[in-house]
Formats: sequence, structure tokens, C-alpha cells
Amino acid sequence: MQLQFLGTGAGQPSKARNVSSLVLKLLDEINEIWMFDCGEGTQRQILETTIKPRKIRKIFITHLHGDHVLGLPGFLSSRSFQASEEQTDIDLYGPVGIKSFVLASLKVTGARLPYRIHFHEFDEKSLGKIMEDDKFVVYADKLDHSIFCVGYRIMQKDLEGTLDAQKLIEAGVPFGPLFGRVKNGENIILEDGREIIAKDYISEPKKGKVITILGDTRKTPASVRLGVGADVLVHESTYGKGDEKIAKSHGHSTNIQAAQVAKEASAKRLLLNHVSSRFLGREVSQLAKDARAIFENTHVVRDLEEIDL
Ligand code: ZN
Repeated sequence: MQLQFLGTGAGQPSKARNVSSLVLKLLDEINEIWMFDCGEGTQRQILETTIKPRKIRKIFITHLHGDHVLGLPGFLSSRSFQASEEQTDIDLYGPVGIKSFVLASLKVTGARLPYRIHFHEFDEKSLGKIMEDDKFVVYADKLDHSIFCVGYRIMQKDLEGTLDAQKLIEAGVPFGPLFGRVKNGENIILEDGREIIAKDYISEPKKGKVITILGDTRKTPASVRLGVGADVLVHESTYGKGDEKIAKSHGHSTNIQAAQVAKEASAKRLLLNHVSSRFLGREVSQLAKDARAIFENTHVVRDLEEIDL
């Protein structure tokens, strides 16, 4: 599982940073990629990566500001251009309004998609669990921005322990139905009278990962709730240390506030994105340094950077 950042800038594209988009690569887990926000130019950023657009099966939108959604019409239209390739549907999650925006853009531009978009819109009253399948659950909660904006908590379900087949063979268990019984947790007696205790041959269940991806926000308790114990928390850092007042008036956060959220949530790792173009070079290092004084495991991400989870 990896996170790859397609755009890490705030508001408008700059030479160093495109506007917001990132993907959660779940290729090993479910052979899918999930996208979070799709600012203008996202499809060009994808060209710089190994991402195959048809593998993107879910898109989650945090809010309807242009720098988070204006790349959608272009991405959705050209996603279908490889006619020879298998066409896969998309599930699109986002605030009420995202459906009319996408449908109007596609209609006006005469786009005809050879795949379906399944819209899942929500408003303030229908937040909470917005998606669940046998491997993942996704929750959304309202943040504190200048328009309705959410953060997402993606929880991988715990992974069952796996059967150590080699160890069973070494114990002299004949390959066949007995393996299945041990895998199901059943203790078995072999012909020579020895007992095989199932749990000795099954690895411990593995805890699923928790990934929290927040949209634009002032510092708010909802961010902490979404980020509790997260393996990774992605938080905006539009402003730097000392800019708390202006951050608040524009509906954003500073690096310091993001670090405080990570600390209060006991997250394991903090990735800062949505960085203003005012910060360049050494100032970016300073953003990270100042945040680390509060939350040690902090990193300011760059466009196209890939982070292993
Ligand atoms: Zn915004």
C-alpha cells in the first residue's frame, strides 16, 4: 500500500507544486487505486507516474473548491480513451453538488463515457460510514473550512492469520483436506497419535492500516477524531508558524496546528500537503522543522512523491 501525491500545492498551480490530488495505491490488496481530490492538471501529473487511469476505481472529493475538483471533467473524459483496454466503472464520493458539476461538464463538452460513474453524494446529515466492503471501511466527517468540507478515515479490516504450510509439511501432516481443517482453527489428531494444535500453524492476525486524509480545514476536533491512532495522517499546511490568525480567517491551518492535531490524535506519522507557493526551498524545510518540534514524525511531501505504508 502506498500514497502518491499528484499535487501538493494550495489554491493555484505553481512551478513546484500542482493543485490538490493524491492517490492511495491498493494494488497488492485489491488491485485498485483510490484518488482523493482531483485538481486541474491531475491527468498530466498522472503521466509522470506508473498509474493506469483504469485502475482508479474510486474517487473521494473533500470539497467543491476549484483547486480540488476542476481536474475531474478532463480526467474522467480521457480515462476512457484507451478503447482497447478494459473499461471499469468509477465510484465517486463527495459533497452534494459534485454530481451536477460532473454531469454538466460532461454534457456541455459532449463527452460520452464507455463506463459508468456511480455517484455517492453526502451532506452534513449523511456523514459517517460512507463505504464498506469486505476489506475496507471509509468514514467521512465534517471539517471546518469556508465551505462544506470533509476528511476521510480509511480503515483496512484486520487481515486473518495465514497458514504456515511449510511448517505443517515438516510436522508430517499429509497434504490435503487436513490443511483446510487446521486453517479453520481445528486441532487434529494424526494417525500416529500426535495432536496438531491449529494456532501453532497460523500466524497472528495482522492489524489493518488506518489512513486519514483531510481536506482543507482550520484546526478542529473532527480532525483529531478522524486521525486517532492513524498510521498516517495527511493534513494541509497552507500556512506556517505564526500565521495562525490569517490561517483561521481563510479557513486553513498552519504546520504547527497540523502537528498539534497529529499529536492529539496519537497518529504515527504526519504528512503535510496543500503548501502555499510562498514557501520555497529552505522555507519548506523550516515548515517541517517547526512542525517536528511538536510532532517528530512529520514530513512535507512533494509532487509525485510516493510513500510506503
Ligand atoms: Zn478549499
